[in-house]
Amino acid sequence: MRKFSTDEIADFQPATRLSVAGSHPEEAFGFVNPPVYHGSTVLFPSVKDMAERTNRYGYGRRGSPTMSALQEAIGAIEGGVGVVLCPSGLSAVSTALLAVLKAGDHLLMTDSAYDPIRTFCDNVLARFGVEITYYDPLIGGDIASLFKPNTRAVFTESPGSLTFEVQDIPAIAEAAHARDILVLLDNTWATPLYFPAHARGADISIWSGTKYLSGHSDILFGTVSANARAWRALAKTHGDTGMCVGPDDVYLALRGLRTLAVRLEAHQKSALELARWLETRPEVSRVLHPALESHPGHAIWKRDFLGSTGLFSVVLKSVPHKAVAAFLDHLKFFGLGYSWGGFESLAIPFRATPYRTATRWEPEGPTIRFQIGLEDVRDLKADLEEGFARLNAAAAE
Ligand SMILES: *Cc1c(COP(=O)(O)O)cnc(C)c1O
Repeated sequence: MRKFSTDEIADFQPATRLSVAGSHPEEAFGFVNPPVYHGSTVLFPSVKDMAERTNRYGYGRRGSPTMSALQEAIGAIEGGVGVVLCPSGLSAVSTALLAVLKAGDHLLMTDSAYDPIRTFCDNVLARFGVEITYYDPLIGGDIASLFKPNTRAVFTESPGSLTFEVQDIPAIAEAAHARDILVLLDNTWATPLYFPAHARGADISIWSGTKYLSGHSDILFGTVSANARAWRALAKTHGDTGMCVGPDDVYLALRGLRTLAVRLEAHQKSALELARWLETRPEVSRVLHPALESHPGHAIWKRDFLGSTGLFSVVLKSVPHKAVAAFLDHLKFFGLGYSWGGFESLAIPFRATPYRTATRWEPEGPTIRFQIGLEDVRDLKADLEEGFARLNAAAAE
């Protein structure tokens, strides 16, 4: 029966790693997939074994063969020292921040962060005595000018939520590491496949598995990977706070992970085609997609990323709100709803202006974020074309 060592797997191409890592047919009667272990109690053979913790697993919250399979598979594409599993992307972020910060520490937080992360910082971290400064996502190596004696961590997200600023992670990491400051990255958009976070300087790589990892809009999930600098703190806080995920969701995440590479290629291709087409539309002022040559962050994206995914935004030319509603309300394939990364296309109107505190974001017209799903791109384009006809009719009324 085939059996690969962790070192062998690390030499395979990423898509191959996604296929083989965490699969142990030799331990599962030949079955390719691991069993889904439902369990809290794990029995020990004797008091001596209990005292010496000889079992590989001691209690359901702390691990199971199903969880290990997923941790191994994610670890194989993250390339860090270890991975922990969390019940949502937001809890993955909060776990990572709680792992590295203590009262009196200073945190630098990107102004383009996913908004609920800001809420966690302002409502929870601040209450526990952490000082938070929001910074311009485009600051690059000048982040050093914001360091204080108590700065412990820099939180990054690239590209930024809704507004897609591309951050210079290697420059930020170089400045931070010179002062022994940790770099955390929310890598949900690119995934470890298209942005190798640790190799680019992130000590902690966070992934909302609700999105492309699961890929089917049927679970909430989050993962955190750490390098040697951050792993002990992460593993300890994850265990101490009781973070764990039910076995069925762990299994669904593993099932999603196996097809990540092919799904991302499809999302990438369709999203780029539609983004390029949207750039030519008279109703559109700007398309915020890092893989477009017109994007201000394109050069850094090209230098650091290995691909682009299915999520981007557009800034429309100035039209009344009712025209935007006419566009969105009757789209056939684009659902109106939060989250993304599933097989289905989505579109939401958004206003990023109120979130900002360190920078201003004042677009020239209404803004829409698109998630391009796995439908045939011709159907999606026709849907959007009809939407623009409705938008123009409503704007002319
Ligand atoms: C969705 C999202 C999260 C949070 O993930 P949940 O699973 O919804 O909690 C965190 N960061 C980014 C960038 C996201 O898009």
